[in-house]
Amino acid sequence: MKIKIHRGTDQIGGCVTEYENNGWRLFVDYGEELPGGFKTGELHVEGLTHGDLSKTVLLITHYHGDHIGSITKLPKNIPIYMGEVTRDIQMVLSNHLKSKIPAHNEMIKFLQKVQTFKAGKIFSFGPFSILPVTVDHSAFDAYAFRIEADGVSAYHTGDFRLHGFRSSKFFKMLEQYIGKVDYVVCEATNILRPNATSKKESTLQREFEYLFKEKKSTVVYLSSTNIDRLFSLYHAALRAGRPFYVDKYQKDIMDVVVNSKSMWTKSPFYQYGKYEPEELMYNKFDKNRFFVSDSFKEYLDKKGYVIIARSSERFDDLLEQIPGEKQKVLSMWDGYVKEGTDAYNENLANSLDGEYDYMHTSGHIDMKDLRRFFRLLQPKAIIPIHTDSPEQFAKLFCDEWPVIRLYDGQSISLTSIS
Ligand SMILES: [Zn+2]
Ligand SMILES: [Zn+2]
Repeated sequence: MKIKIHRGTDQIGGCVTEYENNGWRLFVDYGEELPGGFKTGELHVEGLTHGDLSKTVLLITHYHGDHIGSITKLPKNIPIYMGEVTRDIQMVLSNHLKSKIPAHNEMIKFLQKVQTFKAGKIFSFGPFSILPVTVDHSAFDAYAFRIEADGVSAYHTGDFRLHGFRSSKFFKMLEQYIGKVDYVVCEATNILRPNATSKKESTLQREFEYLFKEKKSTVVYLSSTNIDRLFSLYHAALRAGRPFYVDKYQKDIMDVVVNSKSMWTKSPFYQYGKYEPEELMYNKFDKNRFFVSDSFKEYLDKKGYVIIARSSERFDDLLEQIPGEKQKVLSMWDGYVKEGTDAYNENLANSLDGEYDYMHTSGHIDMKDLRRFFRLLQPKAIIPIHTDSPEQFAKLFCDEWPVIRLYDGQSISLTSIS
């Protein structure tokens, strides 16, 4: 089996990895490069973007744009596999964005044709045997893959972490279903982000609950598809006795999770409690605004609130109209509001207006947890990906494992090393 990382050996966005055996090609992810920063541009990959596709399959680890975002540029007949809930959440997201970003119309057509896999159910493609492994990440329904062909096994981590709500059973599951592997192709997002906190999601939830009790009116800015944080805030608001408000799009996303038959949704955490999240109403005469009646204002004034917001004129307008001394909270990576950085989001910075609390924990694993993870899988070698510093990563881990620093487009043979 050979591996070629077409993109992602020295950048975080837009990873594309190819595993090849006997002319059969298994690709993992086809995402967009992150905004700002250096760009490699369009990829031209035989058996993926053009050429014979009869022995090709593409697996998507999760719905973040840097993993799925560019599939619309691929030939329409390419076979794509992803998790069912991944597909359904992306569908709601694309329907929401299609009027502003036409590429989402294309995305919807692709999503209508994708095939789905299930966690723990091995499937094969040509010589490849593939085991999808459910992982904890800031995207719900995210996967790693154990890929085996030609007697060689590789564990492709996708994006993941060990400090989320769903992380506790991960090691046991790895022990039971994965065991040792020859290679780990591993995300290393946080290697240069030592300050990206890896506080436990459960600790963060307690802090939110405390805040919601203390402050009558809180507005939280977070990614609309950060499902675990969303449900965490919802339950924290319920416990604090504050009404929890989202817009229709955000409620639709939550409903997808609640109504899915994901293995996780048996847990009450992904179900609605005594009160469902309340939907903010649109203004009948002006769809770009929410409807704010006097009785709504009175109710908010009496009970307080937790509002899940995004940076948009509609939310800015709402916050101007409703009562209460609003505590704004940023609950996503703060790189988005640091002026002068590649990821700077001016609209979000303006909505926050400099006055906010920062309450967040990373969607990616920290280096200490990563070492524990490698010790369990005992790989013969590690290949870093989804990182802006493969060199630092190699430096950190080469005391225990060989680290293979690949370059974009370079192909190497993975052999069964004993
Ligand atoms: Zn991700
Ligand atoms: Zn990613």
